[in-house]
Amino acid sequence: MQPLLSLQDISYAYHNLKGETPALSHISMDIFPGEFLAIVGPSGCGKSTLLSVIAGLLAPESGSIYCRGELLPPQTPCRSVKIGYMLQRDHLFEWRSIYRNVILGLELNHTLTRENTAYVLQLLKDYDLYAFKDKKPSELSGGMRQRAALIRTMAVRPDLFLLDEPFSALDFQTRLNVSADIANIIRSTDKTAVLITHDLSEAITLADRVLVLSKRPAGIKCEMPIRFPVGRLDPLEIRNTSEYQRYFNHLWEVLTGDESIT
Ligand code: ADP
Ligand code: MG
Repeated sequence: MQPLLSLQDISYAYHNLKGETPALSHISMDIFPGEFLAIVGPSGCGKSTLLSVIAGLLAPESGSIYCRGELLPPQTPCRSVKIGYMLQRDHLFEWRSIYRNVILGLELNHTLTRENTAYVLQLLKDYDLYAFKDKKPSELSGGMRQRAALIRTMAVRPDLFLLDEPFSALDFQTRLNVSADIANIIRSTDKTAVLITHDLSEAITLADRVLVLSKRPAGIKCEMPIRFPVGRLDPLEIRNTSEYQRYFNHLWEVLTGDESIT
């Protein structure tokens, strides 16, 4: 299968007056259409940097990026893969209603057509936020706000969702439910997603494949496909399976030790 996006031997360093901070070191990875890929790594290792390179927000210092098989010229964002970005904080504007928040991307793109408006209203209905569309963000729970942030991202119909620790500000209970909800929504639309997390459990319960990054500068330590013989269960059920334990122990060893597995 042709990858949606392919990174080959990507390196990146931040430069400032104090010197150089290498953040990414020789990273090669593919993102396949329709997959849910999780990337885990220690805090400060370069995860957000990697996502910014994938998004085309940062140009790598060396290496190549292929977009649906075509080499991207340096400093050029990929035009054939539309990207939706979701961050740790939901970044909803308090002075706008939920509805006016979720149409923000469409407004900015000048694509607030009748068809797109209908699509957004349908998303609000599908994800149980329609009754709250005229409320302010502060009137919603943390989980509802994250769903609103997801709908705002979905409104512009991205091919690839980039999720940078979107659940880490939620309390544990909410986090389990919201992360499962959001993963199901993304799966049901056949979209491709890259989820950054420092939580191994989250990666194993949500993703089809997990990449483990080394400490900074981030390199890929291990890549592991995640399969459960009974198919996708909800995150709590998954945590009770023996496969989950196996994946967890294995990835934990890779994450914390120097063991390198391919
Ligand atoms: P992660 O998301 O894994 O926590 P980041 O990708 O945000 O890590 O950052 C990787 C490293 O690069 C960190 O050591 C961080 O301090 C450094 N860094 C991030 N952004 C900048 C920047 N704009 N200028 C200089 N250093 C940066
Ligand atoms: Mg980060």
